[in-house]
Amino acid sequence: MRVPRLALDRPFTYRLPEGLEAPTGSLVAVPFHGRVVEGWVLGPADEIPDRVADVRGLRSGVRFFDERLLALYRWFGQRYVTPLASAIDRGIPPRVVSEEPFPVAPAPGPPPGPRPERVVRYEGGGHLAAALEGGSGTFLVRPLPDDEAALAIEAIGRCLAGGRDAVLLVPEAHPLPHTAAAVRDAFGDAVCVFLQGEPRARYRAWLDVLGGRYRVVIGSRPAVFAPLPSLGLVWISREAHAGHREDRSPAYHVRDVGAARARLAGAVLVAASLCPSAEAVADPSLEVVRAGRDAEQAAWPVVETVRPGPEGRARRLVALLKSARSGFLLSSRPGYGVARVCRACGEPAACAACGGALDQARGRVTCRACGAPGRCAHCGATDFGVQRRGAERVAEWAARIAPVPVREGAAGPAPGAVTVGTAAAVNDVGPLRLDVVGILDADRMRLRPGLAGPEQALATWFEAAAWAGPRGGGHVVVETAHPGDPVVQALVRSDPWYFHARERARREEAGFPPGFPVFRVRGGAGLTDRLEALDPLHLLVAGEGGGLGGVARPGASDTRPPTAGEPPKENEGERVCLVTVRPESLAAFGRTMRDLARAGEVTRVDAEPHL
Ligand SMILES: [Zn+2]
Ligand SMILES: [Zn+2]
Repeated sequence: MRVPRLALDRPFTYRLPEGLEAPTGSLVAVPFHGRVVEGWVLGPADEIPDRVADVRGLRSGVRFFDERLLALYRWFGQRYVTPLASAIDRGIPPRVVSEEPFPVAPAPGPPPGPRPERVVRYEGGGHLAAALEGGSGTFLVRPLPDDEAALAIEAIGRCLAGGRDAVLLVPEAHPLPHTAAAVRDAFGDAVCVFLQGEPRARYRAWLDVLGGRYRVVIGSRPAVFAPLPSLGLVWISREAHAGHREDRSPAYHVRDVGAARARLAGAVLVAASLCPSAEAVADPSLEVVRAGRDAEQAAWPVVETVRPGPEGRARRLVALLKSARSGFLLSSRPGYGVARVCRACGEPAACAACGGALDQARGRVTCRACGAPGRCAHCGATDFGVQRRGAERVAEWAARIAPVPVREGAAGPAPGAVTVGTAAAVNDVGPLRLDVVGILDADRMRLRPGLAGPEQALATWFEAAAWAGPRGGGHVVVETAHPGDPVVQALVRSDPWYFHARERARREEAGFPPGFPVFRVRGGAGLTDRLEALDPLHLLVAGEGGGLGGVARPGASDTRPPTAGEPPKENEGERVCLVTVRPESLAAFGRTMRDLARAGEVTRVDAEPHL
């Protein structure tokens, strides 16, 4: 039933009238509680109930999924405790009916190319190469800084040579990641770039993939469900990037979905990252493929730590900038600075409309929360003392030092200039050789709120540091008052595992070890007891006002504005629980949640909420 409600999350049986062809994956019209609704055909029923209604008709000639994709959707529903109908809706773009039925051009053969032998030079690479050519397995690959695109191209080439198709998942569409462009160029006509686009073109492309027109699909999150007929490889580029996780509920992660899909299809999953995520490192089923310590040491730049200077102007960094012909300065904040005090009345700066914090950018002060022009909440004045610390201010002072143009660049750095940007500018721009990479406000970045704050800061630093080139090339300078912190030390040692060994302990202490499913559950007064009975690893019950104490990193406060995916506010008498489920009891948890949803005791389940 195409009704995304946990309480109705079960198959319903209908009779297929004589002459109506509707294999698994067909969309049909069926009567349901006096209405006609759409339903997915899931296959023949095991048991036939006494009274069975007829299918009213076929809604489309397209067979939207086969048994293998259905198995993936079923897995998805179990893992994220979400209705099967919601899982299927994740995998199929909104229909544009006039594109159906669809003639599909035959797939071109992949262009013959040279067979590079880079993968096999990595530790564990021989096993990966063999799996790509017809076997299966799940791998965590840590490429050398310049190797990402070349490794992806080689892996996809090996997969195609073995007669199977491949998916390349990238975390964002704009700017087009270097790895995506390189793979597109390497395989030409065989590639479908499934990245954004208007609904009609997107649906057309999806139908063509389903029809076997392409051998390679490049896309962001939804492409993990791409209906390639013979899947051999799912390659996740920049696996630690936040873009690989869905923001809306169910907040799935392509690494988990990709791994499940690879297992069900007998294919290969590769999670590739210069700095893998805590989840990937904690997953014992991922075989590690890396270049080895000596090769890694030679390929990564030397990283210096210095005490933070005023507004980021540490003496060492200033000295390097004076002779730099290219560089990147990573700032933790956009804009120019933060208004601290009203110049008219001397009160702390706050928005007159909503009391929010006031930021200055491009010469204007505006409220961070409501966007209103900056006016003092106390006296209405518009002149503020500003603490100058954002990327715009950094670009201002750097321009007085560097001998080359200094620019603020949201897309990332370029040769011949010094670029200033936030983490959003740290994109996959391909190999670079910058003279200087400066990481300003390192302590503010690594202390960002949220469980994944430190690891995402580190992943960003590794990607930026790679732009300085191998040892003996450019300089990497980290401004920090805590050079011994594991996040900083992991970068200095060019060893993400140094951080993860310590991070795991911190996450376990907080009750959220990597690899353990987490759910936010809303329901009635009996909810807490029902969850306790499931012996969860960790259970937090909302205090007054729905707050869930003890979740944020110590010393940090969550100032993230609510997003569209945020669940609605707590109702009167409602319990909100945050529960960490032991992986082995996930199935029992899912059954209990569905039972409680049917009984009206659970109103909402959100998998993997932002913590
Ligand atoms: Zn405001
Ligand atoms: Zn004032």
